[in-house]
Amino acid sequence: MAFHFERPAGFAFDAGQNVQLTLVDPPETDSQGASRPFTLASAPHEPDLMIATRMRDSAFKRVLKSAGLGLKATIDGPNGVMVLHEDTARPAVFLAGGIGITPFLSMARHAAKHRLAHRIHLFYSNRRPEDAAFLDELRALEKANPNYRLIATMAEAEKSSRPWSGETGFIDRQMLERHLPDLPSPVYYFAGPPAMAMAMQSMLADFGVSENDMRSEEFYGY
Ligand SMILES: Cc1cc2nc3c(=O)[nH]c(=O)nc-3n(C[C@H](O)[C@H](O)[C@H](O)COP(=O)(O)OP(=O)(O)OC[C@H]3O[C@@H](n4cnc5c(N)ncnc54)[C@H](O)[C@@H]3O)c2cc1C
Repeated sequence: MAFHFERPAGFAFDAGQNVQLTLVDPPETDSQGASRPFTLASAPHEPDLMIATRMRDSAFKRVLKSAGLGLKATIDGPNGVMVLHEDTARPAVFLAGGIGITPFLSMARHAAKHRLAHRIHLFYSNRRPEDAAFLDELRALEKANPNYRLIATMAEAEKSSRPWSGETGFIDRQMLERHLPDLPSPVYYFAGPPAMAMAMQSMLADFGVSENDMRSEEFYGY
């Protein structure tokens, strides 16, 4: 689900950054409290702040889900280093697992809006197409930005009711090699649940990518 918040006056952030979101006087809380970090999935040029999350049965998400208009929350931030590098000669390779797509949605919207010169390759892994948040929009952005490509992959395409003719299986070295031309020193970004983030880190290290050329966010709790 996506949630849109009014943007506080003067609040600025870079595409890909996150905030600590705290519910004000929520009707219930649990042992994890009333705060969670969330990436701002909207882009900086948009009027609202949008977060997108995989719904689970925590008190925090029950409150979000049942809230009507006017829910009050505070934000601390922006935080995080998942922002696009400055050197446009270096391509960006984004590796997203599930709801780990949020920083890349923000960056892809930002890059299209401002016609950034970076070449961007977004690998987006999900179980099935129906689980893949923002898939249609991420595909449509290819038309808006000729420097951007989406490579979506489904790990359980056979369990889907929708036809799927794209990549299947997890993101791995062979998949990167199939889709990435001989790129001049890309910067790699990855975000997703801890198991996915760990797998991407060790795959890139095996690939010979230096820590300096990796930026990541681990979405614990999944
Ligand atoms: C920088 C950052 C950005 C994020 N952006 C998004 C986003 O855009 N969308 C999204 O859906 N989620 C995002 N997350 C994850 C999000 O903050 C929640 O953890 C997640 O949504 C699970 O929340 P929950 O209420 O469902 O479960 P919770 O009730 O929060 O707990 C689930 C489990 O996570 C464990 N846990 C809680 N805090 C920590 C911790 N600090 N370290 C390790 N384990 C912990 C708990 O012990 C529990 O077992 C982000 C996390 C980080 C760090």
